[in-house]
Parts: sequence; C-alpha cells; structure tokens
Amino acid sequence: MTKAPSLIDPTKIYADIDTPEQYLEGAGLDSEMEDPADLGAESYVGSGKLTGRRALITGGDSGIGGATAIAYAREGADVAISYLPEEQSDADRIVRLIEEAGRKAVAIPGDISDAAFCRELVERAVEGLGGLDILVNNAGKQQHVEDLVDLDDEEFDATMKTNIYATFWITKAALPHLPAGSSIINTTSIQAYAPSGHLVHYAMTKGAINNFSKGLAEQLAPKGIRVNAVAPGPIWTPLQPAGGQPPEALPDAGSQTGVGRWGQPAELAPAFVYLASAESTYVVGETLNVNGGMPTP
Ligand code: NAD
Ligand code: MG
Repeated sequence: MTKAPSLIDPTKIYADIDTPEQYLEGAGLDSEMEDPADLGAESYVGSGKLTGRRALITGGDSGIGGATAIAYAREGADVAISYLPEEQSDADRIVRLIEEAGRKAVAIPGDISDAAFCRELVERAVEGLGGLDILVNNAGKQQHVEDLVDLDDEEFDATMKTNIYATFWITKAALPHLPAGSSIINTTSIQAYAPSGHLVHYAMTKGAINNFSKGLAEQLAPKGIRVNAVAPGPIWTPLQPAGGQPPEALPDAGSQTGVGRWGQPAELAPAFVYLASAESTYVVGETLNVNGGMPTP
C-alpha cells in the first residue's frame, strides 16, 4: 500500500534537527542557532485564509512570531513585525519572505518594555499597513533563575514589563483601530499551567497573559473582536539558548512531551492562522495548546 504524503508521524519528523548545548547573547538570533529552527519558509503553503488582512506581530523576527509572519503573508495578509534593534538581521529575513509572498512588510524595531514605544509601535503599524485587524502579542522575555533569592528586581521588572505590561500597552493602543471581525492572539505557555521551578517569574507572566486573554475576550466579544491565546510547549527558538534554559537542558528539553521532541515554530504558525481567520468565528477566549502532548486543565 502506498503511504499518503500527508500522513506524517509526529514522533519521527525533525529527527534531523539537533538541539545541542549552546548559549546566545542578548535576545538571541535565529541565524546563530547551531541547528536553525524550522519557520516553515520551505514548507508553508497558503490558501487565502487571510486575504487583505493587516497584522501586527510582536517578536515577528524569529521563532514562533517569525513563522507566523511567514504564514500570514502566504495567507494573503500584510504584516508589520516588531523586534529589538539587535535583531535587525533576523527581521530582514522575515521582511524578505513577506515581500516574496507578494505582501507588504513593515519593520518596526524598538523596546516594548517602554510604554511610549508601544504606543508609537501601534501608530507606525497602522500607518504602514493602512489599518489593523490582527494583533499578535507574541514577544516575550524568559531567563531561567534557579533560586528566587538570586532573581534580581531588575530582571523581575523587565520580565513583567516585556511580557505583561507591553501586552496591555499595545492592546490598549490598538483597540481604537480594530474593526469588528478583528482578532487578538496572545502567546502564553505551558508554563501558565505547569510552572517550572527555575522559571517562576516568567511562568507568572504567562498565567497573567492567559487570564488577560480570557477576560478581555468576554469584554470584546460583543463588539465582534475575538481574543484567544496560543500556549506552546517547548519550542526550538532563540529564546531558549539565549538564557531561557540552562545550556545543558537544551539537548533533552523536548523529551518530556508525548511525541518526545522539541516542537518547531512551523508547527505553531497554523494555530495563529486559525485563530486569526474566519474559520474560528465561534472560538472566543480559548487557549489553543500546541505542546506535543503535555496535559493541561
Ligand atoms: P524568540 O526569541 O524567537 O521570540 C521572542 C521575541 O521577543 C524576540 O524575537 C524579540 O524580538 C522579542 N522581544 C523580547 N524582548 C523584547 C523587548 N523588550 N522589546 C521588543 N521585543 C522583544 O522566541 P519564541 O520562543 O518564538 O518566543 C515567542 C513567544 O513564545 C514568547 O512570548 C515566549 O514566551 C513564548 N513561548 C515560547 C516557548 C518556547 O519553548 N520557545 C514556549 C512557550 C511560550
Ligand atoms: Mg528574535
């Protein structure tokens, strides 16, 4: 019997991607990962699910946000991405891929832990895209700290600002621009449900983002704006070698999942497409877990 090309064993794919011990400075670059993550650049095929839509994706230069930017463009959306200035080279690659899909790309570097920049970011996205109807709050900061007494106030504060405050600031600035039919999608995490001892401050931000998504969904559904969240499991992205995990944890961090491996950003993008598209018009306040099989409540 011939095997259908679409019949893919999730335990067997990506066996060729090695996840070695590695440390990346700063936010980390996709281009510097020893075995690069799969953003779907070679594989994602669109089918017009987001034709004419206008999306802002924070952290759209790499990892999950980068894969989502590629997928959105191939589904017919114009896409603005935000990222840190040090990530310009990764952002340039995503901009090129958006443009190769025949869509408009708007690149907006800056630090979202600053409230004034968050407001400027939304204004520049709206101006560059000619409007906005998809907001993906995806940028995030994760630094592992084994012992709470070693977690300094600055790191705690920067994590709260980047993950929680920025989500609030950007969403608040975007709301006056979002017409009925728009989608807001926030990236939470398995850490919202099953926090790790070395990530307590990060995990609490993901719990807050998950809760914010559900409460805001209640508030905005009557206006025709849907809010949902995506909760990834362990995904091979620059955030992980850039201090998200201790380097020695990198080779095996995916083995705790049902499928026994790290996920790749390309496996996340379809969830973000679904929640942005008209295929999910009755999906509101949901958290879509994409975690390779790690039970959640
Ligand atoms: P990533 O490093 O590719 O993306 C994170 C992005 O956040 C960076 O590219 C950067 O542009 C942005 N960012 C961080 N601090 C910023 C700041 N101060 N100003 C502006 N931008 C800033 O890694 P990723 O794993 O794709 O992360 C995307 C989201 O997924 C994050 O919210 C992360 O918490 C979440 N997440 C990741 C995993 C995982 O295992 N990789 C699991 C669950 C959730
Ligand atoms: Mg990046």
